[in-house]
Amino acid sequence: MHTTGIAFDPIVRRHDTGPGHPERPARVSAVFDYLRYTGLLDSLDQLDVRQASDDDLALVHTRPYIELVKREVEQRREQLSTGDTVISEASLESARAAAGCALSATDAVLSRRVQNAFCLVRPPGHHAESRRGMGFCLFNNVAIAARHAQRRHRVERVLIVDWDVHHGNGTQAIFYRDPSVLFFSTHQSPWYPGTGAAEETGAGDAQGLTINCPFPAGSGRAEIMTAFRDRLFPAAVKFAPELVLISAGFDSRIDDPLGQFTLEDRDFAELTTMLLELAPTAQGRIVSVLEGGYNLQGLASACHAHVTSLLGEMPNTPKPATPAN
Ligand SMILES: [Zn+2]
Repeated sequence: MHTTGIAFDPIVRRHDTGPGHPERPARVSAVFDYLRYTGLLDSLDQLDVRQASDDDLALVHTRPYIELVKREVEQRREQLSTGDTVISEASLESARAAAGCALSATDAVLSRRVQNAFCLVRPPGHHAESRRGMGFCLFNNVAIAARHAQRRHRVERVLIVDWDVHHGNGTQAIFYRDPSVLFFSTHQSPWYPGTGAAEETGAGDAQGLTINCPFPAGSGRAEIMTAFRDRLFPAAVKFAPELVLISAGFDSRIDDPLGQFTLEDRDFAELTTMLLELAPTAQGRIVSVLEGGYNLQGLASACHAHVTSLLGEMPNTPKPATPAN
């Protein structure tokens, strides 16, 4: 078996961030349309997806925070009171769908229906902490998937790799003292949200299980590949994860309006292949969850390269980044 699943629910388009906001519904449409246009979608197993319940969200978030999100969406507030996250009427439903896609993909991978899976979701998740949404994020999709894998599938050790240009402060905070999760992040520094210094390495029993690789603006292939090879690989071999989750942010790609890294599509393809080979204990089980990426054409072509690698294929010649119709 070597199939790649895609978890997508059109409901995620309904999270309306208003005119001019970079985290907009067109992001997922651009990726989906491009995967269809290039024919790659036909190679993927389109997974049945569900909405995350309160109990699912509570795997990671406090009940008072979940209630706060419900209340503030109902009150038609424009922003979440906990941080810089625009909300609208359908935001709760969209955020439940985003987390639900990550849950459904995790179920599909761990039940061996598919080898690995990509979740085409928004709002993103990696800035959301257990009691605080921020940075366009309501619920921490990848963290919820990690906990779900542990609680419902008895997976013991989960590796989370975050290559978004921003530091995944929420994911780090959630697992900072947790020896069952290895969190690895490459990100631009100084940059939003200001966390992710190399000295932040985990605490208690989890000392050494948070690995931050901050790099200055202008960094790209050389820095990130080296970090993967020299920092992630030895730690992952020692940790022996049974499941790999990717916080797949493509704002670390060249020409992104919210980041200044220079990764190219082929680099994302290569990083993906490295992760497929990284942990024999994970047996190629990868669930990749979309985070950032705000240049629509760049996001679409980078996702195409990433998913092509998940399928175990070499990325082909880049196709035109705009559908003909
Ligand atoms: Zn980002």
